[in-house]
Amino acid sequence: MSAPELACNVEAVPGPRPGPASRPFWDGCAAGELRVQRCTACAEISVLPAMRCAGCGATALVWEATAGRGALYSWTVVHRPQSPAFAVPYAPAIVRLDEGAMVMSAVIGCTADDLHDGMRLRVVFRALTDGSVCTGTVLPFFEPDPNPPTPTHPEDLHGRH
Ligand SMILES: [Zn+2]
Repeated sequence: MSAPELACNVEAVPGPRPGPASRPFWDGCAAGELRVQRCTACAEISVLPAMRCAGCGATALVWEATAGRGALYSWTVVHRPQSPAFAVPYAPAIVRLDEGAMVMSAVIGCTADDLHDGMRLRVVFRALTDGSVCTGTVLPFFEPDPNPPTPTHPEDLHGRH
């Protein structure tokens, strides 16, 4: 028996509640962009919405779109969800974006057996629904990248510095 496809949980599951700091991130998802915050003082980037840079404390943060590509850094496969709203199995994951930031998401479009360290992934967006009605919130997921970039450094094969 082959492993089941990983679930894409978008139906009647708890969604995010965007605040002033995170609104640009969710607006980006709705526009088909995975955005990060870049500090214009020290160039540090982060996907965790903040009012100040975690690196230098500056407030000069700007949102910018990423290419939405990266490598699987860490993951787990959930078979017993905390809420019955979630279909299983699903795979929460940390993806290291090619821009360098780590983003928390979930992998879809493959089975748990396919997941491996450094696996090339690309972002894909799915709208949350309440039953069949779209709630207006769009979530970023990651799926296997059919056209991964050619690594320029051997370390890139593993998605690490
Ligand atoms: Zn900074």
